[in-house]
Amino acid sequence: MTARLLDGAAAARAIRDEVRAEAARLIAAGRRPGLGVLLVGDDQASAVYVRSKTRACEEAGLHGETLRLPGATTTEELAAQVERLNRRPDIHGILVQLPLPGHVDAARILGLIDPAKDVDGFHPTNVGLLVQRRPRFVPCTPAGIMELLARNGIELAGRRAVVVGRSDIVGKPMAQLLLHSDATVTVAHSRTRDLAAVTREADVLVAAIGRAGLIGREHVKPGAVVVDVGMNRVQDAAQAAPLLAAERRADFEKKGYALVGDVRYPEVREVAAAITPVPGGVGPLTIALLVRNTVRAAERA
Ligand code: NDP
Repeated sequence: MTARLLDGAAAARAIRDEVRAEAARLIAAGRRPGLGVLLVGDDQASAVYVRSKTRACEEAGLHGETLRLPGATTTEELAAQVERLNRRPDIHGILVQLPLPGHVDAARILGLIDPAKDVDGFHPTNVGLLVQRRPRFVPCTPAGIMELLARNGIELAGRRAVVVGRSDIVGKPMAQLLLHSDATVTVAHSRTRDLAAVTREADVLVAAIGRAGLIGREHVKPGAVVVDVGMNRVQDAAQAAPLLAAERRADFEKKGYALVGDVRYPEVREVAAAITPVPGGVGPLTIALLVRNTVRAAERA
């Protein structure tokens, strides 16, 4: 059996088409949605993510702007920029790109964002609303995964779901959303004993770990749905070999690196019923949901 591909890029295109129509109505009424991004330091991956996010906003007709701040920016200086965006009526969504440099108090910064503009859903007010099942802004990656599952007709009620990873950004909100869809949810992490025994219980397995190829065939129940959130860059040919499907090997040889997930895709797709690829799985959905959250913020403003 080869797993059905859960095509995140296609689902993301569909969501972006819907959102573009919502945005067009607002623009026609003279209320163009706007996203303000704060990017601190010169982390290359962060710069790439931010560019994709603002580009996606512009493609949907939104206003997107990025303020790049030096790596030495203090908590107070960044706080002042957040407050400036909080006050701007043309900015409906605010995103502080993570990770922030170690000397910046990230919790304080995220807590300063106006909860009504918190399109990443990381403000304690929005976290609390999600936990109480009254979601306002839901973090984009887990929200995108729920869209992908729904659009592919994947049933969750009564099924066993295992989330590997307990970050505030992915693992914890993912577990909440699965729980609210009536799955029976287990959250695993680095201290979990016998991870494979836990993950083999899963009808739906979400890997949000950040370790290339940690999840293999031995972790997956035959017929499970596997969602791979991980985004890892591998350069070592021996490490890459078991992670890359045959059709990606030439590209790896040419570039000298590849983006891979937390799941050993070639072997897991032989046992799973459905699987997300990396790239082209969860990543594009994260961006589509950010655009949608920004448009919704503008609608509510
Ligand atoms: P974090 O590093 O914040 O969290 C990783 C989690 O994995 C932690 O809870 C950690 O456990 C757990 N973990 C680490 N090692 C193991 C192990 N050996 N066994 C079991 N659990 C383990 O990462 P994020 O949640 O921010 O991101 C996870 C991955 O998803 C990364 O690769 C990231 O790049 C990617 N990502 C992709 C996005 C997309 O759009 N596609 C968006 C966001 C993230 P503990 O808590 O005990 O330390």
